Amino acid sequence: MKPAAFSYHRPRTLDDALSLLALHGLDAKVIAGGQSLAPMMNMRFAQPAHLIDLNALPQLAGVTLEAGTLVIGAMTRHHEIATSIIVRAVCPLLAEAAATIGHYAIRQRGTLGGSLAHADPAAQLPLIASTLGARIEIVGPDGSREVPAAQFLIAVMTTDLASEEIIRAVRFPVAAPLERHAFEVFSRRHGDFAIAACAVTAVLAGDTFSSLRIGVGGVADVPLVLDDVAAGFLGETADARTVVRIANAVAGAIEPYDQAEISAAYRRDLVKALMTRALQRVTAGIAGIAGTEQHG
Ligand SMILES: Cc1cc2nc3c(=O)[nH]c(=O)nc-3n(C[C@H](O)[C@H](O)[C@H](O)COP(=O)(O)OP(=O)(O)OC[C@H]3O[C@@H](n4cnc5c(N)ncnc54)[C@H](O)[C@@H]3O)c2cc1C
Repeated sequence: MKPAAFSYHRPRTLDDALSLLALHGLDAKVIAGGQSLAPMMNMRFAQPAHLIDLNALPQLAGVTLEAGTLVIGAMTRHHEIATSIIVRAVCPLLAEAAATIGHYAIRQRGTLGGSLAHADPAAQLPLIASTLGARIEIVGPDGSREVPAAQFLIAVMTTDLASEEIIRAVRFPVAAPLERHAFEVFSRRHGDFAIAACAVTAVLAGDTFSSLRIGVGGVADVPLVLDDVAAGFLGETADARTVVRIANAVAGAIEPYDQAEISAAYRRDLVKALMTRALQRVTAGIAGIAGTEQHG
């Protein structure tokens, strides 16, 4: 199918983009990588009368470090996030997850801001932003504001973003010294959206957990960050028995979707398996746990 007719705008400044949004209101949509919006327009699920292209705004793209925070512009492509030396050094969980999004061609076009604004519950970047406690920097007619990712993501394809606002950047906390991480994802075919995904960061003091963060995607309307489950294991020995107990606790704490083709029970088992793998990776070398293969 082809999209419904629309007027195309290519602003050269962020102010011009915001003015166009304010002028056209709900009749307008911004387009970034177009990897989600273009298919939705082609299927006529979205029919904006005005399309505001953000691709002539290089100031919205790029990776910088600001006073211990990793700041990534909304127009930064998934591929750049996956391969950036800075991201890999200070926020390796994010780089690892970005490398698993779709196919190479999609990662070349898709953007961080687009993925967050689209808010697919199975998407990698909303899961990582929530798990790490990233903050979304939003600009609009009244200036700018920052919202924690977990508050920004409200429901399936529903966010805190107003129609006249644009995501400018996302601020990720830099990983703690000696922080370990793992991201595990399962999809039916290579490049498909995840059926489920798990993200873990941990710091070990000797052989015990001194910090632990757990995120689960693809099982509910928004990514789940299981701080209560994680808190219950602080101070525990990071051994194989604890790995099994954490994975069981995570599987017990979620209420996955029950769909005709993928049952809730299957998704719960899948999360348990992915969480076990992720925990085995973050505890590799501790208390006799052998490392498992890392994602490339
Ligand atoms: C075949 C295929 C497979 C895919 N597989 C995966 C996958 O495995 N995992 C995954 O996470 N994603 C996947 N995607 C989606 C991909 O990651 C998209 O890039 C992403 O969902 C949207 O980013 P985009 O830049 O393309 O946004 P667009 O499609 O341009 O826009 C999406 C939405 O975000 C809004 N928007 C965009 N930028 C901004 C901004 N700066 N401020 C405010 N609103 C904004 C738009 O108005 C629109 O509503 C896949 C896509 C395809 C086509």
